[in-house]
Amino acid sequence: MRALDEKVLPVYETVLRRNPGEQEFHQAVREVLETLGPVVAKHPEYVEAKLLERICEPERQIIFRVPWQDDRGEVHVNRGFRVEYNSALGPYKGGLRFHPSVNLGIVKFLGFEQIFKNAVTGMPIGGGKGGSDFDPRGRSDAEVMRFCQSFMTELHRFLGEHTDVPAGDIGVGARELGFLFGQYKRITNRYESGVLTGKGLSWGGARVRKEATGYGCAYFVQEMLGVDGRSLDGLDVLVSGSGNVAIYAVEKVQALGGRVVTVSDSSGYVHDPDGIDVELLKQVKEVDRGRVSDYAELRGGRARFVPDRQVWDVPGDVALPCATQNELTGRDAATLIANGVIAVAEGANMPCTPEAIRAFREAGVLFGPGKAANAGGVATSALEMQQNASRDSWTWEHSEQRLREIMHELHRSVYETAEEYGAPGDYVAGANIAGFVRVADAMLAHGLI
Ligand code: GLU
Repeated sequence: MRALDEKVLPVYETVLRRNPGEQEFHQAVREVLETLGPVVAKHPEYVEAKLLERICEPERQIIFRVPWQDDRGEVHVNRGFRVEYNSALGPYKGGLRFHPSVNLGIVKFLGFEQIFKNAVTGMPIGGGKGGSDFDPRGRSDAEVMRFCQSFMTELHRFLGEHTDVPAGDIGVGARELGFLFGQYKRITNRYESGVLTGKGLSWGGARVRKEATGYGCAYFVQEMLGVDGRSLDGLDVLVSGSGNVAIYAVEKVQALGGRVVTVSDSSGYVHDPDGIDVELLKQVKEVDRGRVSDYAELRGGRARFVPDRQVWDVPGDVALPCATQNELTGRDAATLIANGVIAVAEGANMPCTPEAIRAFREAGVLFGPGKAANAGGVATSALEMQQNASRDSWTWEHSEQRLREIMHELHRSVYETAEEYGAPGDYVAGANIAGFVRVADAMLAHGLI
């Protein structure tokens, strides 16, 4: 952890007092506030307008009951959330997560990060996040549908293409978004394509959206390495996770010449020294809804499944944590550094603990925080909103080209911001400051609201 500037410290203390027990939220806020010392020194007007205090407080927090019936007729009650965090730059934008670990603190940490991530994309989108403690794993399609319909029956009144535009996240993919969109359309009697992103291609979805978070993460690593004239070509890469972000990070890293040797899930990891067969991985995960142990089995003797362990034990040049928050600890970072890692980029949101990030910084390892490295997903959501607003549908080539340009520009702006504020090479500071300044200037312009 870094020290907090004296002007910033009271803001953090208020956050701790006002949001007791929300550890991940405190962590996310602290990570941003730690880097804002040079910003408040340069911009006394932000301090006077209490912009830090205002940015830390969500504009609106919605918590609701989600009752539904399983296939045997048994009644379940889940909790639904939507935190509409900041709308200075555009409609609230951010995903929905369905996972048993979801609670208000998790949604707030994700929503808070989303504000700055969305701002650094340069797109006109505010920040928000939502979800439920519902676990789609092991549920039938009919059960998932009934849950989604109940969830949207309450949430729909807060959404709208100009108001709040959810997308997917962990546990929410094309299937869930389909059911959510169907219910929204039915209740409102409007074909309002721009109210959700990550939609299926035949009903308003955008090409490359599904792939964009993982692809963008690979592009971002390529950009970081490119500063010193290096590239992913010939490097061994560790990917954790095996969901949407991980699968498409694997695909793009391999297209750029790297060799991805691991993927994982909550039961363990796969080590595949010849390089992950991404088509087989897609079949196992996207079609069969299986586990990485199934992948290892289908791969014959080439890949090994290691139960109950993390991928960070495997030697590699680059590490891409693409699973979930706090999955890479200080100890894992020490192992990676001892094994010669040169770059780390967060495909997931806040996967590295503060201790891990500090270890990477001290060892001179390139570190791309999620707010920059996984921003390709939400940036492509903004492209989906553009296509929906103009009732257009872009080609694959054009969409991928736009994503590549956005990641290039985002890297440049984060890199230059870090230099401008006296932290050269510090992508954490660069992303936080670039995002913060953009949101703060818009908030100042809008007056005290
Ligand atoms: N949940 C994703 C994220 O963390 C996507 C959000 C979106 O596309 O709105 O950025």
